[in-house]
Amino acid sequence: MSLDDQPRFDTLAIHAGAAPDPTTGARATPIYQTTSFVFDDVEHASSLFALQAFGNIYTRIMNPTQSVLEERIAALEGGTAALATASGHAAQLLIFHTMLEPGDEFIALRQLYGGSINQFNHSFKKFDWNVVWADADDLTSIEKAINPKTKALFIESIANPGGMVTDIEGISKIARRAGVPLIVDNTLATPYLCRPIEHGADIVVHSLTKFLGGHGTSMGGMIVDAGTFNWSRDGRYPTLSEPCESYNGMKLHETFGNIAFAIACRVLGLRDLGPCISPMNAFLIQQGVETLSLRMQRHCDNAVAVAEWLSDHKKVSWVSYAGLPGDRHHNLAQKYCPNGAGAVFTFGLKGGYDAGVKVVSNVNMLSHLANIGDVRSLIIHPSSTTHSQLAEQQQIAAGAGPDVVRLSVGLEDPQDIIADLEQALAAA
Ligand SMILES: *Cc1c(COP(=O)(O)O)cnc(C)c1O
Repeated sequence: MSLDDQPRFDTLAIHAGAAPDPTTGARATPIYQTTSFVFDDVEHASSLFALQAFGNIYTRIMNPTQSVLEERIAALEGGTAALATASGHAAQLLIFHTMLEPGDEFIALRQLYGGSINQFNHSFKKFDWNVVWADADDLTSIEKAINPKTKALFIESIANPGGMVTDIEGISKIARRAGVPLIVDNTLATPYLCRPIEHGADIVVHSLTKFLGGHGTSMGGMIVDAGTFNWSRDGRYPTLSEPCESYNGMKLHETFGNIAFAIACRVLGLRDLGPCISPMNAFLIQQGVETLSLRMQRHCDNAVAVAEWLSDHKKVSWVSYAGLPGDRHHNLAQKYCPNGAGAVFTFGLKGGYDAGVKVVSNVNMLSHLANIGDVRSLIIHPSSTTHSQLAEQQQIAAGAGPDVVRLSVGLEDPQDIIADLEQALAAA
């Protein structure tokens, strides 16, 4: 390797941000299970509080175990900086808290994780942050929704639950013309399958809870700053461009340049709203990140095997998985996710609602639960669970009609996953 050769993805997944512990020589990143950090002296303390020096003060704002995870995900995504949070939803809260003022609007695609739809429709309204919905398969619907109050676009790279792939580049051009940042939720893809910053994303957000952690043990979220957006152009992002009262009138974008967004999320959002990740969870998630490539490739290979088998099953009416050649999102998958289209997808049962209930009631190895991105294979019938509060028409619009079953294909032997589905389908 020549000196200016950048380490490649698999190397970054193991080494980025980490070094042997300078005091003990510990090779793995220690769990710094401490709330607070001793100052060198009064000058050091006051420079930390004035943002004149970077350093650890209090684990709500920064902690060395978190810092390694942040640097690692920033490297894998090709961003300038990152901030870890307690959950994916906490990351979304901090992003919008930094970008929006009361009365502002943002545009989000209808094809989103159900929890994000709830967060945007209900809790964000209390801050007077107003979501406007558009359609992933109709870019003109996004264009039409833009108005002078619009401050951001929010999309998913691979959209939950249908496993469809979004045209990130097409949407980033719309964002650029409108002068607003594009936020991409990259949870289902992970940077192994898709790097949205290469396609024009300004901010990438993750639920680490899913494939990045990968083992179904720990909650976490991440905000990645691409360093690409000009927050000071027209005063529409005052948190970043205007003098900050709680830091002696400092202008965060002027001072911190291409890491200003990540800094603002940390020193204002995380400081004041408080959803920090625990050092233990940061450590556990990092164990997952170190094997990301191996796991994601196997997740995808298993998902293709299961999806192909389901497509030929007589009780199955359709399979929606962009990894299958005939799928309507297959071309987008080849462009944005050339290594695979992820491991979360849906299929339809000819027997409708009752058949869906029977299948999830009869699985043995598969787990019937509301999560994705575990080593274990997971199954859910959205219309009797996550989407049961919606009217049938709304369920159908969300890709969660009565006949729909969602799978998150795990890392077991694919023949065993198929065998379990086969006996559950036989019972339906
Ligand atoms: C789970 C999930 C979230 C929310 O993350 P939490 O860690 O559960 O708060 C957001 N987006 C997507 C796509 C998800 O799957």
